[in-house]
Amino acid sequence: MERVYNFAAGPAAMPLEALETAAREMCCYGSTGMSVMEMSHRSKMYLPIYEETVALVKELMHVPDDYAILLLQGGATLQFAATAMNLMTGSGRADYIDSGNFAHGALTEAAKYGKVNVVASSREENYRFIPAWDKASFDPQADYFYITTNNTIFGTRYTALPDTGSVPLVADMSSNILSEPYDVSKFGAIFAGAQKNIGPAGLTLVIVRNDLLGRCMPITPKIMDWGKQTENASMINTPPTYAIYMAGLCLKWLKKQGGVEGIAPVNEEKAKLLYDFIDNSRLFKGTADPAFRSRMNVTFVTGSPDTDAEFVKQAAAKGLVNLKGHRLVGGIRASIYNAMPIEGVKALVEFMKEFEKNV
Ligand SMILES: *Cc1c(COP(=O)(O)O)cnc(C)c1O
Repeated sequence: MERVYNFAAGPAAMPLEALETAAREMCCYGSTGMSVMEMSHRSKMYLPIYEETVALVKELMHVPDDYAILLLQGGATLQFAATAMNLMTGSGRADYIDSGNFAHGALTEAAKYGKVNVVASSREENYRFIPAWDKASFDPQADYFYITTNNTIFGTRYTALPDTGSVPLVADMSSNILSEPYDVSKFGAIFAGAQKNIGPAGLTLVIVRNDLLGRCMPITPKIMDWGKQTENASMINTPPTYAIYMAGLCLKWLKKQGGVEGIAPVNEEKAKLLYDFIDNSRLFKGTADPAFRSRMNVTFVTGSPDTDAEFVKQAAAKGLVNLKGHRLVGGIRASIYNAMPIEGVKALVEFMKEFEKNV
């Protein structure tokens, strides 16, 4: 069977080269005589794999030296609570921008541990855009200010970051991390589930500025304590060893593409191909406000749920799979993370042309 173009939102397509290397190394890694899956996480064989993955994150994202890089379990969702438990201990208040379903989930979780101030929201408009913020409504005493840089379900992306002054900016970057350059020094903490743009599911990346460690609530479970995890190099308990290894292979591939700076213009071009076609189509219509369109998740509709479903079905028959939109938006969603080659996007656009002609 031939590989398809997989437009899934996550777990998502991974670079073929990483998969092929993993296949070659599956049973015997190097001269160890065993699979990476069979290694003790504390062994001399495994530790270089862990360290290399951390080093690649640091290199590719230009993470400054005063930040800790953690490779954890629990997904981005666990970090919704962890963010609050680690940081909401000064004033006990935090500012949130409610720009999507995951942002909403994060603020709902944080509200269990402290006072959440929603400074801007587009919830009433089904998150079609990133809501405008007014600095005057920011809480200067907030323990942190929280954003979701790319809204996976609704296909929107921040085009500028809020200026939060000395209040640490925390970002859920699950669906656009490593897709475009970010200045990490502008953030207090960044986290991301790996299964969109880093590697396989089961791994969560957390990057946190050292001065924010050690502030957590006494009730914080040890494995959610960023400070304790930093002291233990992410190994309070068994980390997701194989997912870390796979992420390392994906990051090596990204480095060969010229790193984040190399892949960003390709991502822009991929997204432009799709949006340009949609904007000139008589059938397809984008659902997100053009000013905030995501370069990773392209959401669109035909106007008829039946036609949407027919499109998704016919596309799948052509090897263009997982195009069904999230139920909160409906329609069609093409997730085009780093590992989606431009050829996949061109094939999708060609199919959209053909479908439009025949409908
Ligand atoms: C997928 C996603 C999540 C949820 O990630 P899990 O690792 O499944 O918990 C959270 N935030 C964003 C922006 C996402 O895209």
